[in-house]
Amino acid sequence: MKNIIIFGAPGSGKGTYSEEIVKKYGMGHISTGDVLRGEIKAGTELGKIAKGFIDNGQLIPDELMIDILAATYDKFPAGQGVIFDGFPRTIPQAEALKKMLAERNHEMGVMVELIVAEDVLMARLLNRAIEQGRADDNEVTIKKRFDVYHNQTAPLAEWFEKEGMRHTFVWAEHPSKEAMLDAIFAYLDTI
Ligand code: ATP
Ligand code: MG
Repeated sequence: MKNIIIFGAPGSGKGTYSEEIVKKYGMGHISTGDVLRGEIKAGTELGKIAKGFIDNGQLIPDELMIDILAATYDKFPAGQGVIFDGFPRTIPQAEALKKMLAERNHEMGVMVELIVAEDVLMARLLNRAIEQGRADDNEVTIKKRFDVYHNQTAPLAEWFEKEGMRHTFVWAEHPSKEAMLDAIFAYLDTI
């Protein structure tokens, strides 16, 4: 399978759909949010640094994030295909990913963008706060994460557009998890 970059605002379903894609196509999955939460749980030096940013709704600095991503990617068998969930989130991260893959003679693959209205996102994240108790899923921090998304991450959609990689899936057109998955799978079956 080709590499897939799954892209969208906090709560857009990146992690949920990634798991289903992994099940169907048998590929690797890198969730940078999960990697960072694992470091925090293990009490590592990196975890301590990451916690400060995450609890504030801010992004971890690019240089640090890029090193983490490369180290994680190299743990997967070459050519298996990996789904990048939560990375890249800035243009420098996207440029670094492009370079890292080119150095390994691997293709970037395709980008799957999830488009969901903000009121739907907020409701989902507040619900997740109850179910999973993530420290950054509270209304104040969620609003900061939306701002960070609009200012630093959303402009990347254009970057992917120029790379010819962007494929959008709109929740309002497929308003259930199953309907979104059907649309995403229908596309992924063709690549
Ligand atoms: P969801 O997984 O529901 O779409 P999300 O995108 O907000 O929500 P994660 O991807 O788990 O959640 O990320 C949580 C936090 O981890 C981010 O708010 C940020 O602080 C940090 N983080 C994760 N990936 C990156 C990245 N690529 N660059 C910088 N910071 C990151
Ligand atoms: Mg996630």
